[in-house]
Amino acid sequence: MARIVLKGISKSYGDTQAVEDLNLAIEDGEFVVLLGPTGAGKTTTLRLIAGLEPPDSGQIAIGGRDVAGEAPAERDVAFVFQQYSLYPHLSVYENLAFPLKSPARRLGKEEVDRRVREVARMVRIDHKLENRSTRLSGGEMQRVAIGRALVRRPSIYLMDEPLSSLDAKLRAELRLELKRIQNELGSTLLYVTHDQVEAMTMADRIGILSHGRLVQIGTPREIYADP
Ligand code: ADP
Ligand code: ADP
Repeated sequence: MARIVLKGISKSYGDTQAVEDLNLAIEDGEFVVLLGPTGAGKTTTLRLIAGLEPPDSGQIAIGGRDVAGEAPAERDVAFVFQQYSLYPHLSVYENLAFPLKSPARRLGKEEVDRRVREVARMVRIDHKLENRSTRLSGGEMQRVAIGRALVRRPSIYLMDEPLSSLDAKLRAELRLELKRIQNELGSTLLYVTHDQVEAMTMADRIGILSHGRLVQIGTPREIYADP
């Protein structure tokens, strides 16, 4: 069963049709990149799946369940945005532990500690656990931001240009790491970018968005094959 199914999703803001009749099925464990220029409707699509706002029409199912009316926290998704949004007064350790601290989770201290350390190793920030997040480089901050999404272990990750604020070298490095981590976890990942290289190097499938419409979808090979 597909992990995420969008059926005829539309969303407009005033006169702007941000997303129009979007149909898309993302399989379990798939890495799908939504590629398109600014204003194509990529972020809106992520926000609709996350439940940050409702679509005007259409249906969204996650894990076979229609999620209409479900709050973001009920949807088994985690997001990573372009801005790191770390808590500056907290250490790396505390930033990673934060999502696990809600009373509803009832995780014991040892379990929190185990998960934080495991994720810190995964994103290769385990040598800086005691640092304040303001003392980190951009690449390190982005690792912590990604780690903070991983630590909750949702089955779906929604990432909105998470590497775009980094320089080219770091971007290339983190691209590979993200791909490695996703393979390791077997999670489903929907990743938004306007960077074609990112799409080609990471995606199982690429969906091209233009003016709110999905104009093409396929493997990188299918999309970029010589005619
Ligand atoms: P992308 O992520 O591909 O750059 P967006 O999904 O952010 O595209 O935006 C799609 C269109 O919807 C754009 O024209 C944008 O200006 C518009 N839009 C997005 N969010 C809002 C909003 N909250 N209010 C008004 N217009 C919006
Ligand atoms: P207490 O409040 O009882 O002192 P903590 O929550 O501070 O307990 O710590 C419990 C465990 O979590 C510690 O043994 C440590 O391994 C880990 N821990 C907590 N905060 C940090 C931190 N900032 N850096 C590294 N490890 C931490």
